[in-house]
Parts: sequence; C-alpha cells; structure tokens
Amino acid sequence: MFILMGETEKASPLQHGQFNCPICANEQAYSLHDCAMFFTVFGISVARLNTVSHYLSCDQCGSCFPPQILEHPQQHLHAIDQQALFRVLCYLLSGYGDTVQSRQRLLNSYKSIAAKELCQKDIDSELAIINAGSAPTLPYLQNITHLLSPFKKQQLVMAAYNFANESCMMEHQDRVRINTIGSSIGLSLPEIEYLIVNNH
Ligand SMILES: [Zn+2]
Repeated sequence: MFILMGETEKASPLQHGQFNCPICANEQAYSLHDCAMFFTVFGISVARLNTVSHYLSCDQCGSCFPPQILEHPQQHLHAIDQQALFRVLCYLLSGYGDTVQSRQRLLNSYKSIAAKELCQKDIDSELAIINAGSAPTLPYLQNITHLLSPFKKQQLVMAAYNFANESCMMEHQDRVRINTIGSSIGLSLPEIEYLIVNNH
C-alpha cells in the first residue's frame, strides 16, 4: 500500500493579553506566537514535530521573550532579541579584532537598535563567554531561533552585516559568515541576500 507522508507547518491562533514588559518597564499588551511543524500521513497531521516558533512579543516595543515570562517574570528580565544581538556583535568583534574603535561601534550599534546603553564591562564578560568556548555562538542562535520574531531576525542579520562591513572590506568569507549567522536563525540565503541588497 502506498502511504503519502510529509510535513506541514501550522500556526496556532495568536493569543493576546497583558504582561509587565521588562524593556518598556510597564504593563503592555503581548502577542503569543506558536507555530509548529507536523508530520502528516495522506495530508492529515498525526504528530507534532519540532517547534518552528514559540515566543511572546511586546506589542509596544516588539521585544521577544520566552512564553514562560507570564508565569515567571523574575526569570526573564532580558529580551531574547537583545541578548542575541549583543552576542552576535561580540562574536564579530572577537573575529574582526577587539579594538577601542570597534568596541565603540559595537556599543553604538547596540544602542541604536536596543535603545539601551551597555558598557565595556558587558563586552568583557560576553567575550569571556565566547572565548571560553563553552557556549558557541552558532549553536546558541539555533537554540533560540524559535524565540525570535521575523522582524528581530532581520534586524539581527542587518546589524551583523553593517558591523562586519564597517570592520573590513567585505569579501567572500565575510559574506559567508553573515550567511551562517542568518541560517542559524532560520533565514534562507535568498532572504539574507534580499535584506542586504535592499537595506545597505
Ligand atoms: Zn515592551
């Protein structure tokens, strides 16, 4: 007997409510996004596979959080997108050379996107984590990709591209590095190419 099997993506309806946004520092409306892959037989979903996205975003500032923030607000004081942005910028800083000027560009870039000031000590501690090698950046990004909104993913890749572009003459291996970062958060190569061409 011939059995037709496959995979399909399903988005649950958005849930809305109120939460205390740590970034806005007051009560805001949130949207809870849940989209999963399902295993299908003859087009009928029979088993839920890996989660494609499962995150909560603030309707006011767009910051992304794990849905667990609703039950345990004290454990989620930082937005995932801001943590990911900082990690990616520090990862590039470590690759392109840790200089006074590049640190300043990193802080400026972070501030322009996250609207938050960080300091040299923050960079020191993030670089220490990266250089210790115990929490590699690309697997980290793959682990949190389901917690980022499409907009935050695009913003992250553009920030990475702009930082790299200001650090060096962009050559093939530099573009490969940006593509690898983008792929780690689930963006396709044509999507990354489109972002770079249209936002540069
Ligand atoms: Zn907010």
